[in-house]
Amino acid sequence: MPLEALATVLLGVFVAAALAAGCSKEASEKAAQRLVEPKPRSTQRPPSIVLLSIDTLRADHLGAWGYPRPVSPTLDRMAARSVRFARAISQAPSTAPAHMSIFTGLAPPVHGVHNAVDGEITELPEHIETYVERLRKSGYLTVGLHGGVNVDAAFGFDRGFDLYSQDLISYNWIRASWTGADLEPIRSWLQMSRASDKPLFLFLHHYVCHAPYVTAPAATAHRFTEGRLVEGLFAGMAPSAKRELVELLGKVREPRARMMGILDIYRRQSDVFWSGVELARPEHRKHVEGFYDAQVSYADQLLKWVLAIFRDEKELENTIFVVLSDHAEEFGEHGGKEHERLFVEHLHVPLLIKFPRSEAYAGRVVWETVRTMDVFPTLFDYLGLQKGEPVQGQTLMPLLTKRGSYDVTVASFGQRGRSFPFVRMEREGFSYSTQPTKDGAEWLFDLGDDSKEQEDLKARRPIVLERFRARAAEIYKEHAAFARKLENLGRPEAGADSILQKQLQALGYTK
Ligand SMILES: [Zn+2]
Repeated sequence: MPLEALATVLLGVFVAAALAAGCSKEASEKAAQRLVEPKPRSTQRPPSIVLLSIDTLRADHLGAWGYPRPVSPTLDRMAARSVRFARAISQAPSTAPAHMSIFTGLAPPVHGVHNAVDGEITELPEHIETYVERLRKSGYLTVGLHGGVNVDAAFGFDRGFDLYSQDLISYNWIRASWTGADLEPIRSWLQMSRASDKPLFLFLHHYVCHAPYVTAPAATAHRFTEGRLVEGLFAGMAPSAKRELVELLGKVREPRARMMGILDIYRRQSDVFWSGVELARPEHRKHVEGFYDAQVSYADQLLKWVLAIFRDEKELENTIFVVLSDHAEEFGEHGGKEHERLFVEHLHVPLLIKFPRSEAYAGRVVWETVRTMDVFPTLFDYLGLQKGEPVQGQTLMPLLTKRGSYDVTVASFGQRGRSFPFVRMEREGFSYSTQPTKDGAEWLFDLGDDSKEQEDLKARRPIVLERFRARAAEIYKEHAAFARKLENLGRPEAGADSILQKQLQALGYTK
């Protein structure tokens, strides 16, 4: 087929796929134009990448992490063929900063993106390049299907994406009757990726496990709960609230107004759910965790449908799958709920990386504490791509290959207003944090004896405490210096494209 004719066909397929995912015609056509630009034919397409972020997923509520309830059969099977990072710690207990750390390989005080405060959104500074931009430069077709709100495009999360759309995920989430067929647009992207000879980077994100835990269809929602304890717990999502959301998503396109509208409906639903719940009472906590586990099992079903599409399309073995979460969730362990603070139950998330074809790392477990901001540096190292401008994330490959080293202070940051004044660190078997609670404003735990951080040791271990205090001060200085360095470097050179291209050539992916 002549090149021009092929381009026309591809353009049509792409626009159709984009429209199916709920994207505007204009955005779809713009992205499609880029795809049909002439480029060298590849000899071997690099692997596609799926990054699945299951918002608010606790590692210890999954079978692969030892949870006794059968909530995650798909994910557990996948874990057996992946590298399982037993202890992955998120860089923030909230959605926007945690995701931006994953996308940039930078700590929250450096990228500066926090959750929306009263509808105010801070956008990623222009001079910071995301890993998705780097992937696109190296020839990937980049598609993001996400749940919106604190991963909205307005924060800069859309940078580097050919398409970044909330509509596919949000509409189905609200309808709460997802079927495998609803995820069919993903098949179109895979076909598009093959037709255009570009590997696919697919970012999938949803809020199924986020409070209020009412997304799963009724049959699933009550899988692990019986009886009625308090008024709120059985409320589910009111049909009127669903209608309100669908209407809002259909009508309001302006990001801030859209976000505020969604948050308002969510808060009202959340208030209904939590009314009368006292997590300090074991029977209440058990009940709430039952609802949460039902959501986890629904998220597992979604993963199963996604994998089925890749299997059908014979792309399973040429794809890197990463499954993780942006933060975890508290069920009263430190007197609170949901995720705002810096205790282990807010930050310990699952992390699986399933490498393509090679069985070399299948079933491996990494016990060292790692960071979610190390994920992209690891993928780039594995693919032989240059990581770009200086980043703080480090490759985790040394933990698998035993070549090189991985030695970091694992730090996470808590938001107050528009800054990140609170830090939690893990090092040498201890955790330390400056998270204020009604019982204090500084915490020290021995993770060897007390993995759930229940017994504060700051009075008994003054020397360890002093070491952490000094390190905390250093970390803030280091981050300020790093942010200045990035600012001085400015926007990365466009020439990076050709450097990446050369690396791909060296690997035999292009010629
Ligand atoms: Zn989140």
